[in-house]
Amino acid sequence: MGIKIYNTLTRQKEDFVPIDDDEVKFYACGPTVYNFIHIGNGRTFMMADVMRRYLEYSGYKVKFVMNVTDIDDKIINQAIKDKMEFSDVSQMYTEAYFEDIAKLGLRMPDAAPRVTEHLDAIINLIQTLILKGFAYESKGSVYYNVEKFSGYGKLSGKNTDDLVSGARVEVDETKRNPLDFVLWKAAKPGEPSWDSLWGKGRPGWHIECSAMCMTHLGDQIDIHVGGADLVFPHHENEIAQSEGATGHQFVKYWMHCGFLNVNDEKMSKSTGNFWLLRDVLKRFRPEVVRLFFLQKHYASPLNFSEDLLRDAENAHKRIEGIFNKVQQALELKDNLGSVGRDAYHADVEEFNKNLDRWEKEVVEAMNDDFNTAAAMGKIFEIFSGLNKIASTKKLNDFTLYVLKRARDLILEWNEFLGILHLSRPEGLSKKYEQLIDLLIEIRMEVRKKKDFAMSDKIRDRLTEIGILLEDGPDGTTWKLK
Ligand SMILES: [Zn+2]
Repeated sequence: MGIKIYNTLTRQKEDFVPIDDDEVKFYACGPTVYNFIHIGNGRTFMMADVMRRYLEYSGYKVKFVMNVTDIDDKIINQAIKDKMEFSDVSQMYTEAYFEDIAKLGLRMPDAAPRVTEHLDAIINLIQTLILKGFAYESKGSVYYNVEKFSGYGKLSGKNTDDLVSGARVEVDETKRNPLDFVLWKAAKPGEPSWDSLWGKGRPGWHIECSAMCMTHLGDQIDIHVGGADLVFPHHENEIAQSEGATGHQFVKYWMHCGFLNVNDEKMSKSTGNFWLLRDVLKRFRPEVVRLFFLQKHYASPLNFSEDLLRDAENAHKRIEGIFNKVQQALELKDNLGSVGRDAYHADVEEFNKNLDRWEKEVVEAMNDDFNTAAAMGKIFEIFSGLNKIASTKKLNDFTLYVLKRARDLILEWNEFLGILHLSRPEGLSKKYEQLIDLLIEIRMEVRKKKDFAMSDKIRDRLTEIGILLEDGPDGTTWKLK
C-alpha cells in the first residue's frame, strides 16, 4: 500500500501519485516575521517536516520550499512600535525563526524564499493577471477580480454569492467588488515601497506565495501545506492567482494542519493564553515537544497545556530509558557471549513475531495520511515489549538479535519522527563523550596560555569531523553537526 493523503480540495483520501516521477514538489506557507513563532506555528512547521522526511523515507526525492514573509502590515506596525527599520525587524525574527525550528529538530527547507527578494517575480505575475483580465489597477493598487475566476471557492467550499452577502459592507471605492482582494498595495507615506508598473507600492500577502512557489517549484506542484486558518482566504486566493495566470491546476494535494488550542481555548495574546515555541523549548526538551505533537494526527485539533506536556515528558522519559537499556545490552553483548536458551525465550519469540506485525503497522499508519498518532501507538507497544526483554539478565544470541532488530527499526523511524537523540548525542558511546570533553579541556588550557592558533585548530578539526564546539559564558559545550 502506498501513501494516501487527505486532500482538502477533493475532501477525500487519495492515493499519492506525484506529478513528476523524479521529484515531489512540496510547498509550505512559512512565518510572517514580526514576532517569535508560537507553539501553533511550531506544530504546523514540524508536521510539514515530518511529511517531508517520511516521503524521503518512502523513497521519494523531495524538493521542499517554505517562504518567509518579510514585508507585511504586521512587520511595519512592529517596526513603528519598536522604532526600528522594518528590515531590521524582519531580519531579527527570521534568524530567530530558523533558530527555533532547528532547535525543534526541523531540517532547513531546500529553499526559504523571502518576499523582498522576489519583487520581480511578484510584479510579473500581477502583470500577467492584468493582461489575462483577472486583475485591474485602481488608484495605484491592483486587485484580483474574483468574479472572473470561475473556480473561486473550490478549496474552501464557499460560494461567492454567500460570501458577498456575508461580506461586511466596506467603504472602499477602489475595488469593483467587495470580494476582490489586493495584489499590489499603493504606497502610503512613510511606508517601505518598491517601484512597479503601477507606481510605488508593495505586494499583498496572497500573491507572494503564488509567485515564490511558482519560481522555486514551477507552475504545478504536488503538495501544499499550511494551517487550517489559511484555507480561506489565503489558499483560495493562491489558487485564483496561480490558475488564473497559467490556466491549469496549481496544486494536486492541499493539506491543512488542525488548530492548536491552549488550555482548551483559542490561543490569544490578549488573554495571556499564548505560548512562544522558544519559551516551551526552554522548559521542555525538543524530543518531548515532538512526541507531544506526534501523538495527534496532524489534521486534528490539538489541545496544549503544561500538564499535557508534562505527560509527554513522562512518556518520553520511559521510552528513552528503555532505549538506553537496549543500547547498553547490545554494547555489552561481547562480554556476555552466548548463554543458551533461557526461560524467557518464549517471550522473545513472541515479541519477534509481533515485531513483524508492528513493522508493517507503523508503515501502514504513516502511509495512511501520515497518521503519526497511530504509528506512535504501535511504537509504544514495541517499547513495552522491549522493556520486558531487555530487563532479563540472561541475554542469549537470539534475544540480542531481536533487541538489535527492534533497536534498528526504531532508529530508522526516528529519521522522520525525531523522538530520540536530538538534544543528547547518545549515538556515541560514553568513551567518545569523555574523549571530546578531554579535547575541550585541553583547548581551555592552551587558550589560557594564549595559544589561539592551537585552540582554533582543535575547534576546526572537530568541526571537520562533525562535532561543533560552542563557546558560551558558562564554558564550552558541544553537539553533533
Ligand atoms: Zn502562503
